Amino acid sequence: MPTYEFVCKYCGNRFETFATISQKEKGLDLFCENCGSPDVKQIISAPMTLLRGSPSSGCSGSGSGGCC
Ligand SMILES: [Zn+2]
Repeated sequence: MPTYEFVCKYCGNRFETFATISQKEKGLDLFCENCGSPDVKQIISAPMTLLRGSPSSGCSGSGSGGCC
């Protein structure tokens, strides 16, 4: 079952909820767990862009590189 993440627009509380696709299409009656406000917004969780290793960081190594 997929997890959806929501943020409360009123107090900023973030929470997750489970729902099936059909439940979600029908519309979820969600309330903030913190303040009870129905004014919540779904957070579309994009996959984190993987931090690329810094290829030019060779000189900042243990000092034995000798390139600097
Ligand atoms: Zn709230």
